Amino acid sequence: MTAKAHKRYLVTSALPYANGPIHLGHLAGVYVPSDIYVRYMRQRGRDVISICGSDEHGVPITLKARNEGISPQEVVDHYHAINKKAFEDFGISFDIYSRTSNQVHHETASEIFRTLYEKGVFIEKISEQYYDEEAAAFLADRYITGTCPHCGNPSAYGDQCEQCGTSLSPTELVNPVSTISGSQPVLKETKHWYLPLDKYEPWLREWILEGHKEWKPNVYGQCKSWLDQGLQPRAVSRDLDWGIPVPVEGADGKVLYVWFDAPIGYISATKELTPEWEKYWKDEETRMVHFIGKDNIVFHCIVFPTMLKAEGSYILPDNVPANEFLNLENDKISTSRNWAVWLHEYLEDFPGKQDVLRYVLCANAPENKDNDFTWKDFQNRNNNELVAILGNFVNRAIVLTHKYFDGKVPEISTLTDQDSSTLGEISGIAKGVEESLEQFRFREAIKRAMDLARLGNKYLADTEPWKVIKSDPGRVGTILNISLQISAKLTLLLDPFLPFSMEKLRGFLRFEETAWDLLGSESLLVPGHSIEKASLLFEKIEDEQVQHQLDKLHQTREVNEEVPGAAPQKPEITFDDFTRMDLRTGTILEAEKVPKTKKLIKMLVDLGFEKRTIVSGIAEYFEPEALPGKKVSVLANLAPRKIKGIESKGMILLSENPDGSLHFVEPSQLAENGSEIN
Ligand SMILES: [Zn+2]
Repeated sequence: MTAKAHKRYLVTSALPYANGPIHLGHLAGVYVPSDIYVRYMRQRGRDVISICGSDEHGVPITLKARNEGISPQEVVDHYHAINKKAFEDFGISFDIYSRTSNQVHHETASEIFRTLYEKGVFIEKISEQYYDEEAAAFLADRYITGTCPHCGNPSAYGDQCEQCGTSLSPTELVNPVSTISGSQPVLKETKHWYLPLDKYEPWLREWILEGHKEWKPNVYGQCKSWLDQGLQPRAVSRDLDWGIPVPVEGADGKVLYVWFDAPIGYISATKELTPEWEKYWKDEETRMVHFIGKDNIVFHCIVFPTMLKAEGSYILPDNVPANEFLNLENDKISTSRNWAVWLHEYLEDFPGKQDVLRYVLCANAPENKDNDFTWKDFQNRNNNELVAILGNFVNRAIVLTHKYFDGKVPEISTLTDQDSSTLGEISGIAKGVEESLEQFRFREAIKRAMDLARLGNKYLADTEPWKVIKSDPGRVGTILNISLQISAKLTLLLDPFLPFSMEKLRGFLRFEETAWDLLGSESLLVPGHSIEKASLLFEKIEDEQVQHQLDKLHQTREVNEEVPGAAPQKPEITFDDFTRMDLRTGTILEAEKVPKTKKLIKMLVDLGFEKRTIVSGIAEYFEPEALPGKKVSVLANLAPRKIKGIESKGMILLSENPDGSLHFVEPSQLAENGSEIN
């Protein structure tokens, strides 16, 4: 928390890269929390603007254009339109969703580059970079692939290995290959401009490590580790024909590095939004907050602030509440493997259910560690929380008011202790939500906000107005009055999280206010006020709907498995998981085909301490006669299985090439039968 009072708030959300659609990971990491935050700020009446747009430069876009035989502009036009619409449909309430191919952005980024250039901030350096002689082009970043020197991944990019996550420079790759022509590139001299991050390191240490200890531990920790490793000058230009031309002489064929221009997009978009943009960017009384995913921490906490500091007239971010990653059904979300739930497809499959996804992604947000989205959890949270608690409570309050009081808010008579204590809890809940939101703890905030619905639901269950109505209608009036006041307060408290449903609920209650301060009012709906009939706020999600989504993912997985190449790594296991497997060496003594099957071979394997029968589906690749005497590795403690009437005890380990061919994992001839593999 900052001690300073802020006059206004500038909230930015990471610019989505315009070479693909938005998926759940993006939403959970960045856009749902940022939208909750700005909606809350607006309800509090604060001067806040929410800025976003498409990031439209960089190599992946040019590569995609080349692969699809269209222009880079066509690629970005396509995804900008899809993503802008998906955000709108999903209720992400940016004040502007701009794009970095706009003229105003080209001008702004050029201007900032020139200012830094004229101030002598950059280092000009000639270095050797890979050049494709066939294509007559320098190869930036992803135009080169090769083997990762760290993990051996044969298709690492020139800027990063996606398998081990290490960021690379092209010259580190083993056996580099040009992705344009497939030829082996040569090293050739070229000039670039570098931002000397090393010179700013003492300042960054002071600003972040001393000045921003309140940042989330994952963000602070990553900054510290970058700073402790020592910063290097970073090139801010590239040899490329797509992007913002480097605006100085002698820079033909060079553009600004996408990571130099993209964050400036926040500034350009603000310029586009308001002629008063400077008060948001240059006045110390503005609080700037960057919402991003963890892969962008270094750019928003180190590179961009250094650019702004070097420029001299801009404010710096006051907080960068980056989230970790969201996985999907226990697997890393991956655009290239299509392992994702795309926002525009969700909106088609679940029309009108924006709030369900907003709710689940917030309640399960990867705030401090990576987290998993599952469709089962989505269904459970909808059915057990939104339907059974929130929807059920407001529905009963409204239906009973119509049934007993002709749809008019009844009078309060005498308050019982239970009434008073229920009413007394409301302000504590509201304060708790505020506190969580101010500190970017969105999971906690939504849980606390739902506590008000839980309170209401429990109040109705405990007071049982449907039983009391015969004996004491006055008492029921009080109970329903209180229930309706709670419902009205729910519209205020839950609006940042569930804007669609709360708008609907305001319609039922004929209550139009949204100011946060009203949470402190005694009575929001006066006795005699007519309310509308209610329809369901949330509907149950059925097993079939969830199964349909799981089937879609299953199909994706099958398609992925057909693609040749290294299979993606499975989710991490612990050492304990590994030690539960009893792996042994053995020797095949006998082998014969299982009659009337195509693939099965029955083998007798000597494990030293015993001889085992093991059946394996390898007959398409091995002749039984060739197997006796072969050394094998065996998973010895696999539960026995009956295969074609034969009990198979254990499993022989085989590796599978992308073409499907099988090969034994053979221990050395020196390994004795029955020795443990570990
Ligand atoms: Zn690697």
